Amino acid sequence: MTEDKGNMTEEMIQTFRMIEEEAGKTLRVDDFLAIISHEFRNPMNAAINYLHLLLMGEYGALTDEQAKFLKRATTEVESLLDLVNVSFDLVDPDKGGQRIKFREVIIPALLEELEAETQFLCKEASLVFQCTVQPGVSSIWTDPLRLKMVLRNLLLNAIKYTERGRIVLKVYPKEEGVGFCVSDTGVGIPEEALPRIFHPFYRVEDSQTRWHGEGSGFGLYVVKRLVELLGGNIEVESKLERGSTFHVWVPSRKQ
Ligand code: ADP
Repeated sequence: MTEDKGNMTEEMIQTFRMIEEEAGKTLRVDDFLAIISHEFRNPMNAAINYLHLLLMGEYGALTDEQAKFLKRATTEVESLLDLVNVSFDLVDPDKGGQRIKFREVIIPALLEELEAETQFLCKEASLVFQCTVQPGVSSIWTDPLRLKMVLRNLLLNAIKYTERGRIVLKVYPKEEGVGFCVSDTGVGIPEEALPRIFHPFYRVEDSQTRWHGEGSGFGLYVVKRLVELLGGNIEVESKLERGSTFHVWVPSRKQ
């Protein structure tokens, strides 16, 4: 295993060197990210295929418990693949825009999957999760993959930064689109940090997560960029020790 990892790293370094030589320049961070994203896709797609084969019972029947955790593992790897895919959008916004696939998205169906995931994580963290959808929310034209990533990131953050209490997702009709509101009763964000919260790699100093040591400060930057690619906007309000609320608006648009 370690040997394989060593070989992969070695291969990756060789690939970078080769590309640098061919391009006659030192790779920039953007180039580096683009290559990494690309190199990650194949093994991740293979892992997802293997997991699906196991889930379909191709290698023997599964107990309910095994199927439940295998499904969770599959969702996690699929989320990771989503993240890798959209990181292309971030390093190359022009092409990212082209990759966005606007189609009719049934909001209650999109929320179903997110609700199941969030419910599971909240239960493990002894938090209450509520999702309310106001009448009038049905479908919009948007990119479901990007929208789901935005909401998933905000919900995961809410759980990460909340020790006790509740996480609430409210969905309501708003200006030719849909509004989403993710609130928590967590640690909150200091006022002076709010203007920088969407900057890349920015983290509130000493911010305590329920998973210590985790966090890169990249998540909210990705969230904002994705919301903008969908033509929407995002705002945050927060009070220390009281909790935070992220408001997202996504318009219905065909391209
Ligand atoms: P990270 O990987 O550090 O969570 P993010 O970009 O997602 O990075 O968030 C940036 C910073 O914003 C975090 O380090 C944290 O301090 C703060 N933050 C984000 N969401 C919340 C939240 N729901 N409650 C409190 N603080 C938050």
